[in-house]
Amino acid sequence: MSENVRNVVIIGTGCSGLTAAIYAARANLSPLVVDGHEPGGQLAITTLVENFPGFPQGIQGPELIDNMRAQAARFGAEFISGHVVGVDLSQKDERLAKKPIEVNLGRETLLTRTLIIASGASARWLGLPSEQALIGHGVTSCATCDGFFFSGKEVAVIGGGDSAMEEALFLTRFATKVTIIHRRSQFRASKIMLDRARTHKQIEFMTDTVVDEVLDVSKKEVTGLRLRNAKTGEQWDFPTSAMFLGIGHIPNAQFVGNQLDRDGDGYLIPQGYVCSRAPGVFISGDVADRHYRQAVTAAGTGCMAALEAEKYLEELGK
Ligand code: NAP
Repeated sequence: MSENVRNVVIIGTGCSGLTAAIYAARANLSPLVVDGHEPGGQLAITTLVENFPGFPQGIQGPELIDNMRAQAARFGAEFISGHVVGVDLSQKDERLAKKPIEVNLGRETLLTRTLIIASGASARWLGLPSEQALIGHGVTSCATCDGFFFSGKEVAVIGGGDSAMEEALFLTRFATKVTIIHRRSQFRASKIMLDRARTHKQIEFMTDTVVDEVLDVSKKEVTGLRLRNAKTGEQWDFPTSAMFLGIGHIPNAQFVGNQLDRDGDGYLIPQGYVCSRAPGVFISGDVADRHYRQAVTAAGTGCMAALEAEKYLEELGK
């Protein structure tokens, strides 16, 4: 265990964690930022971001993230790669914090006076055995990463939210036809995204339809989907070369256990804006946001978390 007690450790290098890092570094707190298993978060695997203020022509998600990282590093933020497997938030004396917060990376344990949890949310899977068996063989949750491999082919996108629309629109660059398969006939997607998809000549919609099985595990590649009409129960095989998941996300907060308040889906529940019931522990970004989940809102709460950490350290006299 490192005896070096940091002022600020930040879990996550998405736009929330990096914004927290910029603010904490600029306050001379030398934050240590843990990359996590998806460095850069969701922006790192997206394409053009058109709604982040300040970029009238939009900016590519990975470029935006690279800029934020460079900005944080410029002010002295340090980065460490690793996956947080557990934390110990049990400080005996609330304000004196005799025992630092522990962040367990498996190979080493970081000690810190404050912790900002900005670990985001990861793509959700259907959970079918055939889906899991074919991940990387035509089943994927990342259109940006894998769309190119299906150039000239027909593919399916599962989901009825903005993620599914965005993936489908992106995939039209490569695939000859994209079928959006959604389990209901109402959509969560915003009107603008839904309209874009609906009017795109390469995109077709299949509603009230669920995936029962991904074919064909024996061939180790996706050849089709066994679908079922959710209303009639009718089942049929639909030929396709790939299944892209766009069905939402799961918050990355498992390592917290029950040390902080979490809702039924595992999202952290902050107190006020970004505080938690553990002293010195602050929460920001999508790990606590099932509602807005925008780059700019994640950045906003990252800023708040860093300001709260700074205030807390001031009160500790650090
Ligand atoms: P979402 O809005 O929660 O939509 C998830 C979709 O997946 C829903 O249609 C849901 O169906 C479906 N789904 C969930 N679990 C399923 C399962 N097991 N089997 C089949 N279908 C399932 O998630 P999201 O699309 O990722 O969007 C999340 C947030 O990010 C939203 O606020 C969105 O606006 C934002 N976002 C914005 C953009 C953009 O503006 N460019 C892009 C992506 C995301 P039901 O409707 O039946 O529940």
